[in-house]
Amino acid sequence: MNRKDFLQTLAPLAAAPLTGKAMKLNELEKMISPFDNTAKMPVLFLGHGSPMNAIEENEFVQGFRNISNEIPKPNAILCISAHWETRGTYVTAMEKPPTIHDFGGFPKELFEVQYPAPGSPELAKQTRSLIKKTEVGLDEKWGLDHGAWSVIKHLYPKADIPVIQMSLDHYQTPQYHYELAGELKSLRDKGVLIVGSGNMVHNLGMVDWRRLNDLYGYDWAIEASEKMKKFIEEGDHDSLIHYSKQGKPFQLSIPSPEHYLPLLYIMALKEKDEVTSLFNDKAVAGSLTMTSVKISHS
Ligand code: ZN
Repeated sequence: MNRKDFLQTLAPLAAAPLTGKAMKLNELEKMISPFDNTAKMPVLFLGHGSPMNAIEENEFVQGFRNISNEIPKPNAILCISAHWETRGTYVTAMEKPPTIHDFGGFPKELFEVQYPAPGSPELAKQTRSLIKKTEVGLDEKWGLDHGAWSVIKHLYPKADIPVIQMSLDHYQTPQYHYELAGELKSLRDKGVLIVGSGNMVHNLGMVDWRRLNDLYGYDWAIEASEKMKKFIEEGDHDSLIHYSKQGKPFQLSIPSPEHYLPLLYIMALKEKDEVTSLFNDKAVAGSLTMTSVKISHS
């Protein structure tokens, strides 16, 4: 049934007087999806690294392009970016999200990049109705930050797929984020590509800025990265959630959680029969990794 037909079948319901048996509004809202059912969409964690990846040509950019060719074209994208932290959880709900240049000290060319993908107020409302863990706010002020556009532009350069962002509640625990993310599962059956954008190893204070393009990692970065990948591949989500108990290499790799948490959103969406595959699996500038993850059936 397409959406129009479905809405027509609901029309008599809407006209009926409210009784004890009437469907609750939020149940009704949940049933009205802007998208038809699809095969289950893969889920992606994208290591975004330097904002310069938005305009440079390098192996990571090529990796992003390749991955978009491996997956079905989505109806819409929901992105959890490291760069949107709030008190409480919000989704962008505007028709035309502006391109936000949330960085400083980069060339003018980078500030001129626009990624004019439409928003999807319908998907924003649907996402809000799915989440039970907290009240999700509809945001009209944010847009697409560079955590979203600097990578999504390489997957879908035509900017023809609607994109919404969901914020990270700065005041919640990793366990909370993981549980909240699990409530997004049904969107995968509606052709929604859920993208977490961050970096698993991300210590800007220790970046060697003179060697920003050099592919190497400090010993602790490599040690943490190898362990993270092992946990991902073995499905050991508990160890990923409780990263703060994993010792010094993890503490150095995750000095603040915002670039790591999008990984937990992605892992929470993995079904038991799905596999993980890694791409862009390299360290840069000593204290960053670009390692990215695809979760899918094959
Ligand atoms: Zn970042």
